[in-house]
Amino acid sequence: MKILFYDTKKYDKESFEAILSEYNGIEIEFLENDLLPSTAHFADGCDAVCAFVSSDIGTKTIQILADKGIHLILMRCAGFNNIDLEEAKKHKITILRVPGYSPEAVAEHAMGLALAVNRHIHKGYIKVRENNFSLVGLTGINFYQKTAGIIGTGKIGAAMCRICRGFGMKVIAYDKYQNPELDFVEYVDLDTLFAESDLISLHCPLTKETHHLIQESTIEKMKKNVVLVNTSRGALIKTEDLIKGIRNMKFFGVGLDVYEEETDNVFENREDDILEHSVTARLLSFPNVIMTSHQGFLTEEALEAISRTTLENAFDYQNGQIKDSNVVV
Ligand code: NAD
Repeated sequence: MKILFYDTKKYDKESFEAILSEYNGIEIEFLENDLLPSTAHFADGCDAVCAFVSSDIGTKTIQILADKGIHLILMRCAGFNNIDLEEAKKHKITILRVPGYSPEAVAEHAMGLALAVNRHIHKGYIKVRENNFSLVGLTGINFYQKTAGIIGTGKIGAAMCRICRGFGMKVIAYDKYQNPELDFVEYVDLDTLFAESDLISLHCPLTKETHHLIQESTIEKMKKNVVLVNTSRGALIKTEDLIKGIRNMKFFGVGLDVYEEETDNVFENREDDILEHSVTARLLSFPNVIMTSHQGFLTEEALEAISRTTLENAFDYQNGQIKDSNVVV
């Protein structure tokens, strides 16, 4: 099976090449371009493509891939909100993903963002480098004995609940389905979570239901000086409303690993007119916002698990024995 691997980064190539020889019959061609309608035709002559959260796998891309004879899309990630699933079904394209690789990697990053923005580590780092050892403006709050509100208690949310408990926080959560492993967590409705939490961390998937879950009406329900963290998907938050909330001094700090304009390559293009209209660029102008570029998953352990499960998915598909848990469609 020949796989065209889109959006290759140095760390992807290294982690996949390290174990590729263990999977007989699988060949990979690495491409730097991401999978988009304009690059889908590069898959001509391949059997499968490997894509990521940033890929645009909408109707047009699927149609081109189907036309080029692609019958398998290997997502080297958990989320799949960037795929037109109906179109994939129509063309009998199978989509396999990596449902969980290292939930702790993402949860640890979420807590890292929460701590950094709360204790002004980003400001302290810059100040000290410039020989300014003043502490003015660097006062934080203790998380100990405060309330953490976790939205979505699947694999990553559960890891975040355990981390928050380790910090001595009361942990409350909202999910459509309660996780029976989290006996120390009190499940509440969303309104209660917004009203009681000092730290809110988002760990639910992006769906029609969760799109813009955080917007003016929900921000109003939050406590003043709440810390908000999003390592899940950018569009869980309506950025314009978040900016309004920050201006109204609602947030002690905001830590974001994901942002609404992620697929628009706003910063890679760096064209002035794009930046001028970018809500992400506006967000970055606030001193109590810390943003990273979707790096929550990026640990050695997670990369190894991602490459292994993706190659197992390809191998199993080749041998007609795919794992139900990894099937998207
Ligand atoms: P998961 O499927 O194990 O858990 C998701 C949880 O969200 C489930 O318990 C589900 O019941 C719950 N949920 C679904 N709809 C909901 C709703 N309307 N309200 C509240 N809860 C709801 O997924 P996971 O592995 O924990 O991943 C969570 C999300 O993290 C993914 O969807 C993805 O967007 C994101 N993610 C980010 C990174 C990163 O690098 N930043 C890496 C991996 C995953």
